[in-house]
Amino acid sequence: MTVKDVAKIVEQLAPVGYQEGYDNSGLSVGSPSMEVSGILLCFDVTEKVVDEAIALGANLIISHHPVIFSGLKSITGRSTVERIVLKAIQHNIALYAAHTNLDSVPRGINDKLCDILGLQNRQVLSPLKGQLVKIVTFVPQQQAQDVRDAMFAAGAGGIGSYDCCSFNSEGKGSFRASEGANPFVGKIGELHFEPEVRVEVVCPRIFVNGVVGAMVDAHPYEEVAYDIVPLENDYNKIGIGMVGELEEPIAASAFLELVKEKLGCSVLRYSNPNKSHVKKVAVCGGSGASLAGVAVAKGADVLVTGDVKYHAFLDYQEKLLLVDAGHFETEQFAIGIFYDFIREKIANFAVYKTEQVDNPVNYLYR
Ligand SMILES: [Zn+2]
Repeated sequence: MTVKDVAKIVEQLAPVGYQEGYDNSGLSVGSPSMEVSGILLCFDVTEKVVDEAIALGANLIISHHPVIFSGLKSITGRSTVERIVLKAIQHNIALYAAHTNLDSVPRGINDKLCDILGLQNRQVLSPLKGQLVKIVTFVPQQQAQDVRDAMFAAGAGGIGSYDCCSFNSEGKGSFRASEGANPFVGKIGELHFEPEVRVEVVCPRIFVNGVVGAMVDAHPYEEVAYDIVPLENDYNKIGIGMVGELEEPIAASAFLELVKEKLGCSVLRYSNPNKSHVKKVAVCGGSGASLAGVAVAKGADVLVTGDVKYHAFLDYQEKLLLVDAGHFETEQFAIGIFYDFIREKIANFAVYKTEQVDNPVNYLYR
């Protein structure tokens, strides 16, 4: 099992292509071809976590937050990040992160937050844009089903809760094979008209190469005509934050207690409740106050997130209940999500959860 093999498993859960533009998820230190002796999971990579990996003999650290986020100009050990990277390189330890891509996927952090708060009828709060394309190809009628099946199996044709979605219209394709061609139908040098089906499927951008490859393999023609058309549609399955509903409306004060208890918060910061009861709840693990406007637009009574600034409390106090439950507290499930997913795929592999205290924030309260 190489670093690349483990990365492929993690990317079945959280494809790197779903990270936000400012992010730096994926492998940041180490060789993809290195044999993995063990995996240590953590929230943030600290020097203590690297020491822990060395002691465990685990040469791959998978974290939620990427260590190298805003770039490094040197690796001499002057800053904490430089020291972590230097130590990892010196001990041949690879560093891999799944950050905003883990926030954005089904079975990711926000889905887990919904589980923990008991939210139903969930939708993505802010779907990713520019993630969908339409693939169109033209196939002889006899082979249309094989080509459709190959494209579906490679990841195309999903819309909401439906799969195998396509549109098929019949028409005639024309072509004339030149000398040296090996046409499936028609003769060299003769103009040929063939009854064909125009097959259209929607496809997430990250699967395009695989879907086109599968389509070409299944297609009987030696030159396959196809179009890849970018779509403006939102990709409703993938995106930051989620919104869902509590089973019954509950008092705002009871909801705050629920959040505090379920997330194990020492303190909660929250705006003046604008309603006595809440039912529709938006969540965004980490720093999600910038989604407060989207949460209001989706009819949420409350947004649970972390890192909320004073002015956000002020700006939204009449629009929704804004709850700052803490950055770490709202994302703490990342380690468990990694662990469960990796163990599901490779049961007999050395995977450890860090024993270091991960929350860098402390609270003094009476
Ligand atoms: Zn975070």
